[in-house]
Amino acid sequence: MNVCVVGTGYVGLVSGVCFSDIGNKVTCIDLDQEKIDKLKQGIIPIYEPGLSDLVLKNINENRLSFSTDLTEGLKDADVVFIAVGTPPKENGEADLQYVEAVAKSIGEHLDSYKVIVTKSTVPVGTGKRVKEIIASVSGHTNFDIASNPEFLREGSAIYDTMNMERAVIGVESEKAGEVLTELHKPFNTNIVLTDVETAEMIKYASNAFLATKISFINEVANVCELVGADVTKVAEGMGFDNRIGKAFLQAGIGYGGSCFPKDTSALVQIAGKAGYDFKIVRNVEEVNQNQRFKIIDKLEAVFNNDLSGRKIAVLGLAFKPNTDDMRDAPSIDLVPLLQEKGADVFAFDPVAAENARKVIPGLNAVENLQKAVNNADAVVILTDWPEFKEMDLVQLKETINQPIIIDGRNMFEPETMKELGYYYSSIGRPLVD
Ligand code: NAD
Repeated sequence: MNVCVVGTGYVGLVSGVCFSDIGNKVTCIDLDQEKIDKLKQGIIPIYEPGLSDLVLKNINENRLSFSTDLTEGLKDADVVFIAVGTPPKENGEADLQYVEAVAKSIGEHLDSYKVIVTKSTVPVGTGKRVKEIIASVSGHTNFDIASNPEFLREGSAIYDTMNMERAVIGVESEKAGEVLTELHKPFNTNIVLTDVETAEMIKYASNAFLATKISFINEVANVCELVGADVTKVAEGMGFDNRIGKAFLQAGIGYGGSCFPKDTSALVQIAGKAGYDFKIVRNVEEVNQNQRFKIIDKLEAVFNNDLSGRKIAVLGLAFKPNTDDMRDAPSIDLVPLLQEKGADVFAFDPVAAENARKVIPGLNAVENLQKAVNNADAVVILTDWPEFKEMDLVQLKETINQPIIIDGRNMFEPETMKELGYYYSSIGRPLVD
């Protein structure tokens, strides 16, 4: 099939390259000239494992191309995906200006039947809105709209797409359902065929549920600390129950990123507009926002509430490992707060430093782990990058001023840290002193 993907960000680029890799001819469109020029040369604008090789392979095999010209993508397309951003507005609602702008441009150039699919995460009713815009601008209805929300995770986006657990396809016509089912056949996955509104809701419900699991286990962790239980064992004991499952029960300093924070607040807004107060999700957001500050409490507990002049090594800036995405990363709140409290922060992240500098003014990001931890009064872990797990803890103890680790991601075993002679404070587990 011929596929056009409008919006070549994380989702558009990964989806585009995967659709091309399974044999379709794909044109990825973006307004960003620099991004498209780089992609044409095989230079990838984001950090995502495996993406670069797959893009080059499909460019070389003539199945994947890039352009800033929408008409080039629309020309022979059977299916057009809208994969532009839907960032949060001030009030938490999803900002649909980019989706609506793309719908308008599609309407201006639509001259033959196509299935127009919203892949961006959009509030219920957006598909209908896209349909109205395209119909009014093009002056005809020779098209179908559909919803096909995306579930990939940054850091394992290629794997997640190639091995998707389900494809949610929301349609208004049998024909669009057949086209999109056919397109997804090579993924050999579960197809959930539904109406457009239900598909739009599935995405928000899924993300809000995962966020709920995280905030739930974080609250359990907070109680564990008060009553002397170990949250990792609690999660293990819970997770063997198939009704609960093991995933998303890792206690820590909470979620960040481009999806959970904005999708939970958008769902609260969607419900509110429909006259419903979505209490659970509102509380999930509040718990998550508070959780990150546990790091500061724990650090202040060690230094008698006085961080001034303390050299603090911050390990990890990205909201999770294997990505350079800084959107809503806990470090954005925590690094400036540490600095405000007088700490001298030396931060290290394997790939996110450049993006972090753009959103954390005054950030002192150093180029390697050693520089960050050298003579530190305490080490704070914000992101569970595998290379932090592999640190030589014996050597680290020699390098730092005081053997203090505040671990926001529960990367090490408290018992091991005790044997090594560390003061080790993690989330929801016994303090090692
Ligand atoms: P992104 O910001 O990385 O990419 C969006 C791209 O769209 C940018 O390159 C931008 O230049 C381009 N764009 C904006 N307006 C355009 C226009 N009129 N024409 C052409 N291109 C235009 O965003 P993303 O992270 O890929 O997210 C896209 C959507 O997918 C969002 O709705 C998001 O919620 C959803 N989503 C994201 C993820 C994720 O992990 N990033 C996962 C699932 C779903």
